[in-house]
This record gives sequence, structure tokens and C-alpha cells, in this order.
Amino acid sequence: MYDYLIVGAGLFGSVFAREAADKGKKVLVIDKRPHIAGNVYTKEMEGINVHEYGAHIFHTNNREVWDYVNKFIEFNRFTNSPVANYKGELFSLPFNMYTFNKMWGVVTPQEAEAKIEEQKKAAGITEPKNLEEQAISLVGTDIYEKLIKGYTEKQWGRPCNELPAFIIKRLPVRYTFDNNYFNALYQGIPMGGYTKMVENMLEGIEVRTGVDYFENKEELDAQADKIIYTGPIDAYYDFKLGTLEYRSVRFETEVLDTPNFQGNAAVNYTDAETPWTRIIEHKFFEFGDQPKTVISREFSSEWKPGDEPYYPVNDEKNGKLYEEYKKLADAEEKVVFGGRLGEYKYYDMDKVIESALNAATKELG
Ligand code: FAD
Ligand code: UDP
Repeated sequence: MYDYLIVGAGLFGSVFAREAADKGKKVLVIDKRPHIAGNVYTKEMEGINVHEYGAHIFHTNNREVWDYVNKFIEFNRFTNSPVANYKGELFSLPFNMYTFNKMWGVVTPQEAEAKIEEQKKAAGITEPKNLEEQAISLVGTDIYEKLIKGYTEKQWGRPCNELPAFIIKRLPVRYTFDNNYFNALYQGIPMGGYTKMVENMLEGIEVRTGVDYFENKEELDAQADKIIYTGPIDAYYDFKLGTLEYRSVRFETEVLDTPNFQGNAAVNYTDAETPWTRIIEHKFFEFGDQPKTVISREFSSEWKPGDEPYYPVNDEKNGKLYEEYKKLADAEEKVVFGGRLGEYKYYDMDKVIESALNAATKELG
């Protein structure tokens, strides 16, 4: 008999499992995939840790979460600085003085501000109502046309004037020469890969991979007092109220017989014609000097049932449906729902860890 059956060996499940085991609880973790670590899983190829489900850069402002992850592995000093490639022209990201200088030849912050103000005025925007207007009012028409429009429409599969303004506010706009993509206090990549970090979290805990909860539900439920469920909430209820939607991503990964393909971990292809959104060169997350390199092209697509769920579509329609499922979930006595799929929330890694630690405190005291 186990105190806790944990469905999902991703970050939520693994953090909860660690906390419960440390409190003397008997825990079983299962995952339907053949490996642990969920979407942060890294796989070694040619001596390089490949981010199998997309590039993951750990960044947080939460000191407690930063200290927590550092207990399990050492982090390197990686700072995310993607480069934008627009039809062969390269620009610095996020939008900063290097970007403005390359775009317009401006040298001072005052010149850059004047240029953006002039373009914003010409576009006649006073109160931005959608992503297109928000982008132009932040960085002007030239940057919108070359670095935002094509990329965003590929990523979201919808025109920029039909997307919410807040999406573009995720990116910093700086009148300084600073290419750091995030404003977080702490940032880095686990040295040796995320899988190693999760392996360390799960040390001494019983884990079974390749086990689908729903195929063995009765038998598994009978073995545990409580269940921590981190799979999709609608799947738990056999989609009886309807299906929650996701945006999906597909990766094409290649080993290349060259030590350096693009000179950076991430290059965004911001034109509309290139079919992929970005290329990741995995070795550069860990400053690798291997003789070969591994790259992944990332393609965005509309999700359909059966595809791997990636980004929850947190719009009104899905929000309402989630609330209905949540009512069912809240009434469960034996089951706690958590994580990006269980809570249908686009969490960054630090937020998932924070949420798992809170759930553990609530459960275990
Ligand atoms: P998951 O990692 O999805 O774990 C859930 C697990 O449950 C899965 O392994 C699944 O197989 C298992 N499961 C589901 N159903 C069943 C079942 N029926 N039986 C058994 N097992 C089941 N965050 C950042 O902080 N920085 C980034 O740079 C970043 N980049 C990202 C890039 C992409 C493309 C994506 C999609 C996400 C990114 N994130 C990033 C977010 C990050 O991936 C998530 O916050 C985190 O991995 C979520 O952890 P989780 O445990 O909630 O979910
Ligand atoms: N974005 C863009 N050009 C870029 C990078 C990002 O227009 O080169 C826009 C795009 O709309 C994206 C948003 O900025 O959805 C936020 O970017 P972020 O990298 O935070 O998105 P993520 O991939 O993490 O969801």
C-alpha cells in the first residue's frame, strides 16, 4: 500500500514525490512515457543534452524556488539571447539598442525613442487593442513588420490583429545594450541536463515508466490512499464535458557533422515564408565543444485530439470549460490535480515548482 500514487513524472509530480518521501510517506510515481522528467526531458545525443520537447531555460525571481532546484544540481551561467533572422538579416533580441541600431542606424537611446515615437504616431495608435497595435506602439512599424508579424502569425496560426495584446508584453523592450531575454533575477541550465536534475529529485523513490494510469486505473487506485494527478484534467473525466484545446509543436531534429551550425542556442526565423519558427542548437545551452552538433527545427501547429498537448489555449471558451472540470476536481476527496495539464495553465518551470511545493505543504503540512 502506498500513501501517494503520483501520475506523471514531470516537474510537478517529481517535486511532490520528493517532498512526500522526505516526510516519510510511501510513494509510487508512474508515467506513460518511457522516461521521467515530463516536458523538461533531455536526451543525450553525440554527448549533447537535447531538449526533446523544446528549449527550456530556467529563470525565476523566486529565491526559494532557485535554492530548491540548486539542491539537486548545479546550474550554469547560461543567459538566453536569441537572435532573429529576417530573410538573412540578423537582429538582437529582445528589442534593445543593438536591435534599434541595426534596424535604423540610431546610436543613442534618445534617437531610438524618437524613431519609435515617429512610427507610432504615423500609425495613429493611441490605445492598442490587439497584438499588432500593441507591438507597433512599443517598437514601431519596422520592427513589427520584420521581427514580430511573421513569427507571431506562424506561432499562433492567427493574424496579429486578432491576437490579445498581452502576448507581446512578455518580451522586454530596453533602451540599453542588454540582450538578456528575461528580466529574472536567476537564470541558468542544469549542468548535465534536466533529466539528471529530475533523476536526483526522485532518488530512492519507486518510479515506473511506460505505465498509463487509465489502462490500470482500478488496480493502481486500490494501492494508494491518495492520488496526485498531473495529466490532462479532461482526460481524467474521459472528456465527458468536452475537450480542452491546446496549441501543438513539432520538432525535426538532426545531427550535423560540424561543430557549429548557427553560433547560438536559438535563432528565430521571423519572416512568414520560412515554415519553422526557430532553430535550436542544443550544445550552446551548456557551452558544448563537441565535434558534432544537434539542431531542432520547431514547427507550430493547431492541436487536434491525440496530438501531444503543449500550450493550453487560455481563451474564454476553454477557460469556461476548465472551470466546469475544476468543479468536479474540487469535489474529489482522494485526488489532487496539479501541473500544466492538471490545472490547464501555461506555467513556466518555476511556477510549476512553486505550485507543487504549495500543494505539498497543504497536503503534508
Ligand atoms: P509535464 O512535464 O507535462 O508532466 C506531466 C506528465 O504526466 C507527463 O510526463 C505525461 O507523460 C504524464 N502523464 C499524462 N497523462 C498520464 C497518464 N494517463 N498516465 C501516466 N502518465 C501520464 N518553462 C520555463 O520555465 N522555461 C522555458 O524556457 C520553457 N520552455 C518551454 C517550451 C515549450 C515548447 C513548452 C511546451 C513549455 C516550456 N516551458 C518552459 C514550460 C515547462 O515545460 C512546464 O512548466 C513544465 O514542464 C510542466 O511540468 P508538469 O509536471 O506540470 O507537466
Ligand atoms: N515574438 C516575436 N518575435 C520573436 C520572438 C517572440 O514576435 O522573435 C512574440 C511572439 O508573439 C511570441 C511572444 O513574442 O508569442 C512572446 O515570446 P516568448 O518567447 O515569450 O514566447 P514563448 O515561446 O515562450 O511562448
